[in-house]
Amino acid sequence: MPNYICTTCGVQYANIDSPPERCPICEDARQYVNWKGQEWTTLEQLRTEHSNIIKPIEPNLTGIGTQPSFAIGQRALLVQAPQGNVLWDCISLIDNDTFEAVVAKGGIAAIAISHPHFYAAMVEWSRAFDDAPIYLHAADRGWVMRPDSAIVFWEGETHQLSEDITLIRCGGHFAGGTVLHWASGADGHGALLTGDIIQVIPDRRYVSFMYSYPNLIPMSPEAVNGIIQAVEPFSYDRIHGGWWEYRVLEDAKASITRSVARYIGAITGEWFPTTAP
Ligand SMILES: [Zn+2]
Ligand SMILES: [Zn+2]
Repeated sequence: MPNYICTTCGVQYANIDSPPERCPICEDARQYVNWKGQEWTTLEQLRTEHSNIIKPIEPNLTGIGTQPSFAIGQRALLVQAPQGNVLWDCISLIDNDTFEAVVAKGGIAAIAISHPHFYAAMVEWSRAFDDAPIYLHAADRGWVMRPDSAIVFWEGETHQLSEDITLIRCGGHFAGGTVLHWASGADGHGALLTGDIIQVIPDRRYVSFMYSYPNLIPMSPEAVNGIIQAVEPFSYDRIHGGWWEYRVLEDAKASITRSVARYIGAITGEWFPTTAP
């Protein structure tokens, strides 16, 4: 029997007898319900219509994304680390080709996810890799639609997964909104893997922050300051966002500082460019 997957957010549900009536993640103000009405698919169906692209991003970091794009369209990241690989964020599709490609890179020892929009088919990924633990922040516990014994709810402000990898609770977009600090990323200068908790934008010298991206609901100055304070103690030079090519390639710490100043200036009316060229 299949577990149903929402076609708009890509999250897989516990239900197997019949599709759920509603998707609370899509009904939330941060998402939206399919214009044609709530629709569901299954992993089996996805495998017939989609495949995954697996691409190196930088040394020891590999992107895994679905084509054609499905649901929110994020790609996951595999961090290859001596103490065990970590899958950062998740996607709905896992198939044999993906499994074999990930095994060839050392498999998955743990999964960590930034927030509920990217929970995707996390339990399927865990099961494929020997019930790898799935680290989610406890503040978002209520958004888990397929509970499983592999899920580890961590609490507090940081959680060290290994010598090299620390989960940092930023809040903001979700109460448990998490980013991953990878100390040996960016040639040892450190990298942040941020999903959309810190959103890389088309001007890749900057990042931004929203309570809802599709519905364009901004965040308060307090919430944005909370994010910058959470990452302040960590060294990093690069940010990998939630989508292909959405990366701040250098000087990332300064980019967060100037982005927060611009964002707070804009929502408080203190900053606005007024001059024509
Ligand atoms: Zn949904
Ligand atoms: Zn999101």
